[in-house]
Amino acid sequence: MRRAGGLLLLLALLAAGLWWGRVPLGESVYQRVAASRADRDVLAGGADGLGLIFCGTGTPLPDPDRAEACLLVQAGANLILIDGGDGAVRRLAAKGVRLGGLDAVLLTHLHSDHIEGLAPALLLRWTGSAARTPLPLIGPPGTGRVAAGYNLLLAADASYRTGHHGEAIAPTGGGAFAGRDAGPGVVWNRDGLVISGFAVNHAPVAPAWGYRISYKGRVVVVSGDTAPTAAVASAAKGADLLIHEALQPRLIAGITRGLDGSGQPRTAQITRDILNYHTTPEQAADLAARAGVRELVLTHIAPPLPSRLFHPAFLGDAPARFAGPIRIADDGLRLFLPAGSTAIAADRL
Ligand SMILES: [Zn+2]
Ligand SMILES: [Zn+2]
Repeated sequence: MRRAGGLLLLLALLAAGLWWGRVPLGESVYQRVAASRADRDVLAGGADGLGLIFCGTGTPLPDPDRAEACLLVQAGANLILIDGGDGAVRRLAAKGVRLGGLDAVLLTHLHSDHIEGLAPALLLRWTGSAARTPLPLIGPPGTGRVAAGYNLLLAADASYRTGHHGEAIAPTGGGAFAGRDAGPGVVWNRDGLVISGFAVNHAPVAPAWGYRISYKGRVVVVSGDTAPTAAVASAAKGADLLIHEALQPRLIAGITRGLDGSGQPRTAQITRDILNYHTTPEQAADLAARAGVRELVLTHIAPPLPSRLFHPAFLGDAPARFAGPIRIADDGLRLFLPAGSTAIAADRL
């Protein structure tokens, strides 16, 4: 009896010791991890070239693995965001991408999945660089209204931030967008980086643009959202890389049947409606072959693919239609096209 009591006392002391020790240990590990994360700056240094980070590769269809549309472009001293759907910009920040140096946001079109996640871009650029001027938001007609809407939405927040952190950290004037409606053609030209918008076919959404991005001889074309169109093939003629949206109707059909069968006819109809203003992987492969690009990257992936096991079903016979590599982008994919080379390097953040 006495021995059992001693054992219990020993166990109680041991548990108390572990409990006592647990807190400082957890705190110490957390502080080390936090310090190394804060020290991370994935955009710093590196060779000269055209860098791309896929911050969002999804669509409005709920997908736990993909944020909505977003691509970050880094070239020389330029840092440009193309589209900013829900969750995408916050995902960049979580991966150690510092956005204080963000120069502008370009929009392909004004669908919600391309514009509804822009508030963090504004805040992170503002407080990351103590910016005193608004962040340029450039895109098709209507972009100025989106900028004005964001500025109205965030006016109170901006005044709170300045009031709380002070002019040295959140200066008046930096917490807003400067919207600019631009026509097709060159929308950005600085330090060797030239970005031109061209009209694609996302009817009834019009205008909707793709972008041709060139830097020191390297060329990348972004389709934006579009049905298959010759405009993409001609903009991508001889480019290094075509980044094309992709939707696989054969997989969408499974979702449509499920929605019909479970009494959700309106959502089912939406899954039918979306078929006519997007591009299948096979059609994107045809366009890549026509343009003669080195590599095809598919993004804006619909429907969600819960595992890589579904990649072959998503691609269909796209690999037979384009001889070059085809990659299905995921959030955190980073590509780098060095200046003066034909290489395309890939890794994941
Ligand atoms: Zn979209
Ligand atoms: Zn769209």
